[in-house]
Amino acid sequence: MSTLKITNLSARIGSRQILNGVSLEVSSGEVHALMGPNGSGKSTLSHVLMGHPDYEVTGGSVTLDGEELLGLPTHERAVRGLFLAMQYPVEVPGVGLDTMRRAALEARGVEPNGLSKELAREAELVGLAPSALGRPVNVAFSGGEKKRNETVQLAVLRPRIAVIDEIDSGLDIDALREVARRIEQMTQESAEGGDRLGVLAITHYARLLTELRPDRIHVLRDGRVVMSGGPELADQLEESGYEGLGVTDGTGEVDVRQQ
Ligand code: ADP
Ligand code: MG
Repeated sequence: MSTLKITNLSARIGSRQILNGVSLEVSSGEVHALMGPNGSGKSTLSHVLMGHPDYEVTGGSVTLDGEELLGLPTHERAVRGLFLAMQYPVEVPGVGLDTMRRAALEARGVEPNGLSKELAREAELVGLAPSALGRPVNVAFSGGEKKRNETVQLAVLRPRIAVIDEIDSGLDIDALREVARRIEQMTQESAEGGDRLGVLAITHYARLLTELRPDRIHVLRDGRVVMSGGPELADQLEESGYEGLGVTDGTGEVDVRQQ
């Protein structure tokens, strides 16, 4: 079993402090949803976890199975089993999807045998046209294609812990269901010889969480977790909004317990 442990993580970009002591723990087979108002630092957290060079960590630690990740370059974090599906996936002109995936698997010491077949199968599961697999990564993809592609990548790479940042944005309801279902499946069934996937899902909408069923919901505000609760918290937030639930500033920590 794998555990991603974030302890008191603080980070800034330039002179601007954005994360102010985030603590979270995600283990294999678990889904944790991270919600929170725009600008609360959700994407920043995902970038800092993956080691984006623009952000400076000012405190705390991030371990995967006890090993400190902070200080490791991004590709080393990926090799150890951390994966990020970006809110805004990057276009990589000139590099085909299959080439990128083959390189990623080889970097992890996995023989990419049967990769083309697996890619085709995964693409079909989330409704990505087979022709997209032969194109350069994300170039001229629609918003929905990018998100489907992130899911295909996740399924083929089989990381231990995946951070998915607003995978629901740009997807219509049917596509959202397919994508969420596929990710949920990975948290239920172990990959060959491995563990079930652990997921930190950043989202604004409870709708994602009807298929991708969370164990815990956390609310980020001003760069810290101000509220945590069971799955019912997502519905309460959808109904009342953040203000309605008292998420007005980052000063008080509220623990909403499961009824
Ligand atoms: P969320 O994903 O929760 O909407 P972000 O993590 O994207 O929030 O942003 C958190 C805050 O950090 C915002 O106020 C945003 O303007 C600021 N921020 C994010 N990236 C940068 C950047 N590259 N330069 C300056 N400020 C940034
Ligand atoms: Mg964001």
